[in-house]
Amino acid sequence: MLNWFSRNARDLPWRQTRDPYAIWISEIMLQQTQVKTVLPYWERWMKNLPAIKSLARAKPETVLKLWEGLGYYTRARNLQKAAKTIEENHGGIFPENFDEVLALPGIGPYTAGAICSIAFDQPTPILDGNVMRVLTRIYGIEGDPREPKTNRTLWNLSEALVKIAARRQETLMASCSALNQSLMELGALVCTPRQPKCPECPVQKHCVALREGKVQLLPEIAERAPATKRHFVAFVVERKGRFLVRQRPEAIVNALLWEFPNLERNDSTSFSENEFFRIAKDALPICSIKHSITRYRMTLDAFRATLRPRKKFGPGKWLSIPELRELPFASAHRQILDHLARRIPPPRLQSSN
Ligand code: SF4
Repeated sequence: MLNWFSRNARDLPWRQTRDPYAIWISEIMLQQTQVKTVLPYWERWMKNLPAIKSLARAKPETVLKLWEGLGYYTRARNLQKAAKTIEENHGGIFPENFDEVLALPGIGPYTAGAICSIAFDQPTPILDGNVMRVLTRIYGIEGDPREPKTNRTLWNLSEALVKIAARRQETLMASCSALNQSLMELGALVCTPRQPKCPECPVQKHCVALREGKVQLLPEIAERAPATKRHFVAFVVERKGRFLVRQRPEAIVNALLWEFPNLERNDSTSFSENEFFRIAKDALPICSIKHSITRYRMTLDAFRATLRPRKKFGPGKWLSIPELRELPFASAHRQILDHLARRIPPPRLQSSN
C-alpha cells in the first residue's frame, strides 16, 4: 500500500504541507465534494485567509463568499467558530491533542483523525466512505458499515492498521500520515464504488472480497429513503437597473446567504393566490434550476416581475448586478444571478474625452 501510494498519490496542494490549518481546510471542503471541485476553492481560500488568525478575524460574509457554491454552509460557519476557539483557548496555535481537536466546532472523529495523522503523524484512525469501502472489501466484512456494531469493527481495524504504521515509523518504513492517506487514495482511485480496478490493486492478493467474488456485494450499505421533491418560485424584481434581494436570517438553512424573494410552492398553493402575485405583475419565466440538498431534489422556477404601484416586498436591498456579485448567494439563486448577468451587459464606461 505504501509503495503504491508513494508512486501513485495525486499531487494535491494540501499534500505539499504539514500545516494543520491547510490540511483542516482541505478536509472540511472535501466532505461531500470531489477533489477537482475543491482545488480552486482551497487555493482561493488559502490566498485570502492564509492562517487561523485571518479566518478568525474575517467578516462572516467574506467567509461565506469564499465558500459560495460548495454548499452545506454550516461547514464554513463552523470553520470560523473553530478558528475563534483556537484563538481564544489555544493561543492561536492549532491543537495537537486529538481530544482538543475533536472538541472544535464542526470536527468529528474522521476529521480529527485525519488532521492528527496527516499533520502530526499520530496513530489516529480514520473512517470515511472511501476507507469504509476499502476495509470492508479487503477484510470481507459483511453488515451495513453504518450500523453501530459493524462501524465499531471498522474503526478498530483502522486503528490497528495505523498503530502498526506508528510502530514501523520508528524504523522509517512507514508513517501514520502515509498509511491513512494511502487508504483514502486507494478508495478514491482504485477501489471505487463501481468497477473497481482490482487488477491494478496493490493489495489484491490479500483481498477477501476479490477471492470470494464479493467485490460488488461489499460494502452492504442499506438503501436510503427515497428523495423528496420540493418546488420553489423566485421573483426577480427590477427597479431602475437594481434588483431586490434579501438576506436569509440566522439559525436556518443557508443562514446569512442572499437570495431573490421566493416561496415554497406546495400543491395547494396556486400562483394567483400567493404573496408575490398580489404584489408583482407581468411575471415572465426566466429559468428553471434543479439542485439537490441532502435528500431533497429541488426545482426553483425564477420569474421576472414588476412591482404593482404602491406595493412593497418587505425587507430587502435594491442592488445592481456588480453589487450583487459581491454578496454570497445560495447556490440556486447564484445561478439566477448568473443568468441575469449574461442577459444584461455591464454598464459602458464613460469616455473621458
Ligand atoms: Fe478493492 Fe479490488 Fe483491491 Fe479488493 S482487490 S481492495 S476490491 S480494488
